[in-house]
Amino acid sequence: MTDHQPQPVDAVLARLAQLRAADPPTHGGRVLSYVYDPGRPDLDQLAAEAVRLFLPVNGLDPTTFGSAAVLERDVVAFARDVLHGDGEVVGSVTSGGTESCLLAVKSARDTWRAAGPGRERAHPRLVLATTAHPAFRKAAHYLDLDVVEVAVDPVTGRADAAAMAAELTDDTALVVVSAPSYPFGALDPVAEVAAAAADAGVPCHVDACIGGWVLPWWGDLPPWDLAVPGVTSISADLHKYGYAPKGASVVLYRGRAAHRAQYFATTAWPGYPVVNPTALGSRGVGAMAAAWALLRALGEPGLAGLAGDARRATDAVRAAAGEIAGLHVVGSPVGPLLALAADDGPDSVDPFRLVDALRARGWVAQAQPGLVQPDGSRLPRTAHLTLTAVSAGIADDLAAALSAAADDVRGLPAPLPDPALAERVLTAGLPDELAGVMATLEALPADVVRPLLVEVLASVVDPGPVG
Ligand SMILES: *Cc1c(COP(=O)(O)O)cnc(C)c1O
Repeated sequence: MTDHQPQPVDAVLARLAQLRAADPPTHGGRVLSYVYDPGRPDLDQLAAEAVRLFLPVNGLDPTTFGSAAVLERDVVAFARDVLHGDGEVVGSVTSGGTESCLLAVKSARDTWRAAGPGRERAHPRLVLATTAHPAFRKAAHYLDLDVVEVAVDPVTGRADAAAMAAELTDDTALVVVSAPSYPFGALDPVAEVAAAAADAGVPCHVDACIGGWVLPWWGDLPPWDLAVPGVTSISADLHKYGYAPKGASVVLYRGRAAHRAQYFATTAWPGYPVVNPTALGSRGVGAMAAAWALLRALGEPGLAGLAGDARRATDAVRAAAGEIAGLHVVGSPVGPLLALAADDGPDSVDPFRLVDALRARGWVAQAQPGLVQPDGSRLPRTAHLTLTAVSAGIADDLAAALSAAADDVRGLPAPLPDPALAERVLTAGLPDELAGVMATLEALPADVVRPLLVEVLASVVDPGPVG
């Protein structure tokens, strides 16, 4: 944008629409990650109207903007009921799952540091499974905790409760389990880990960022939320299965002290007293207002209905995937997530090639690289599918596309890593077929991959040298 002269408003809006038109479709269920579509234009309209009403409000100071305080209190209370918290459970609305997880870690770190002499500057441990969301690694990176990663069962993808319990030392600030995990949709053994954590005096966080607003209505599940003794905090993203626009999640704590430990407050400047419950200063309230409106309009029956649609879609696609030669669904996923891995043998369907073949057919699945765990076991590369309520209407189309895409690539050799590819991507951008890129990412050492990924993503938004 080198032309800084004013443009006619029509042209400005036309340009925005043109940019959006080139994106993959955010509605209709063909993009199987990133976006969550209730399949209900009326709900989208409600959310948009709520955002419009609250667009100018600053949630930085809920004593000035009392409206923001009312909405947040209501959303926290709703979440607490749904997640089986009692009157001792309180929390905050945040900008998303990453912030909810970051704050849970911050609260646990500060509580751990305050609990003993000599801990003020010490780096406690954060114990997690290899399938835990990277938001926790990011929190550890920002907040100076030492990550202790524990291998999951390579067949089911579930966290190993005994192995996690064995890591709960005195210098552990928090242990994390997922309900379910993003990569495989595995419901971790929440009760076992939480019981071990309670015995060891370690707080236990349930990352229900993706499951928190859909598992409550999924059907028969072992307890996984605040109903479980020993679970001390939980995160649940409203901008996933609450179908709110991006920018809304909830983090809840058992006990007001743990919630208060999340806050930052200072008077050490000549300006207004700063009290920040979350990582942000000025806080947009639009997404929270939309979440509030959706929760009010849907109520529990409405949320249960949307969860039922997602469940029907997931069951149908899972059954169909089970019939496709050369691939299988990993483990026993709980909730609307599926990971597809290759079978061994001549009929094998490589997941990275499957993702490319699906894209060529107009469906966007996510390629997930394999991983060598700390115990040497291997987690397979997979193709990830996130189903939503809208998927119920297109489950048959998706099943047919999966089957056809598998036919396209069945028996082809797995793509090989190509170190020269990195240079080509940096100069020429990403190719249409990503299987080779993903295979290269999977094979290169982490310390080589990280700067490459940063460079590729940074170059996308880099305006270039001034000239
Ligand atoms: C999405 C997700 C997160 C992080 O949430 P963002 O909203 O993307 O920041 C954390 N944990 C799990 C299991 C998730 O699926």
